[in-house]
Amino acid sequence: MFAIRATHAFDGVRFLTDGATVIVDGDRIAGVEGARFEVPEGVEVTTCDGTILPGLFDCHTHLVADSTFGGLEQAGCMDDAAVDEVIAGSLRQHAAAGVTTVRDLGDRSYRTLAFRDRPGLPRVLAAGPPITTVGGHCHFLGGAVSGDVRDAVRERAERGVDVIKVMASGGFATPGTDTLGAQFTVEELRAIVEEAARLGLRVVAHAHSLAGIRNALTAGVSGIEHFTGLTAEGPRLDDDLLEEVASRGVVVDMTMGSVRSAHAQMPPPPPEIATLMASLGWTSIEDFYVSRFAVLARLRGHGVRLIAGVDSGMGPFKPHGSAWRTVGEFVEGGYPIEEALAAATATAAEACGLGAVTGRLSPGYAADLLVVDGDVATDPTVLGKPLAVLVRGTPVPQPGSVDSGVGEPAPG
Ligand SMILES: [Zn+2]
Repeated sequence: MFAIRATHAFDGVRFLTDGATVIVDGDRIAGVEGARFEVPEGVEVTTCDGTILPGLFDCHTHLVADSTFGGLEQAGCMDDAAVDEVIAGSLRQHAAAGVTTVRDLGDRSYRTLAFRDRPGLPRVLAAGPPITTVGGHCHFLGGAVSGDVRDAVRERAERGVDVIKVMASGGFATPGTDTLGAQFTVEELRAIVEEAARLGLRVVAHAHSLAGIRNALTAGVSGIEHFTGLTAEGPRLDDDLLEEVASRGVVVDMTMGSVRSAHAQMPPPPPEIATLMASLGWTSIEDFYVSRFAVLARLRGHGVRLIAGVDSGMGPFKPHGSAWRTVGEFVEGGYPIEEALAAATATAAEACGLGAVTGRLSPGYAADLLVVDGDVATDPTVLGKPLAVLVRGTPVPQPGSVDSGVGEPAPG
């Protein structure tokens, strides 16, 4: 048993006045007390001048992709040992940056499933290869369906996936796919949702197009990724659509958190997107990205549940371990800091079915903890300065950190 004391604390939902002393017993939180709490004799206390909070979620990652352009596609033709090496490296980067749970939404050959619950590495929820059409978005990951979509769901359930991912529209990373249209009919998507529900699994849909969003919504998916709303005339996310997303309780992940300075290095977009961008007066991906901030405020206005996911691994602008950036962006988009942080902790945990397991500073919850250098309440960018990270009670090495000894046996 040991304790971490911090001058500031966020419990997954709200800030605790006067910080906290979090007592860790094995892989669990044994107690959450005030910062002046006198810990029982023999319990080593590490005191940090900073904020303690639950470890972060990245609800949209591609662990098999190494954050180079084309890395995900490359994973489609690498041998298993090489893929495993990339997965392990991706997870280490997430852990070092305070991400203690990832939801992997695009895998090759179910390799990520073997990395669930490895000591010192983030918890992994895995979808396996995304269900897509023949030649459709990310077909190179092996998830293209030519027959009954229900068989694709059953195969994934038999493999033991935690969630089903379906590509409801094309994507920028797969040339020749329809980013403005739909990849599956409502009937096909509904069959996927029904079969998944029968097997106790949620379905999340990748949707850049408005058509894909509409189909996914009507089919009854649990979550929508990207949520771009593209049409040939530009993004269209009307109020009645947002109302329906909110009333159906569908969770939205905007896949933000990019390293924006790296946007300039992106390869040119597919022709239909280049044409669309030109017609909207957007000269760069950065122009598109900036337009997303106004959507955030509208999501909140309509009461849509928002969670933090990055699409990490997809390029140098989305390295693994970027989830902390989403919080500052949500604040920039009009969210109060508590709600922005919850989107990356307690709300994300609930959306992933882990609401009773992790994402909160609460006794009995997993000791998935992040301590950062500063007061998150006044400056969300301090989330990028981790002092200590614990994954299920196991400290993650923090190079150069004075507090890397958290949880280590006391000297002498
Ligand atoms: Zn993705």
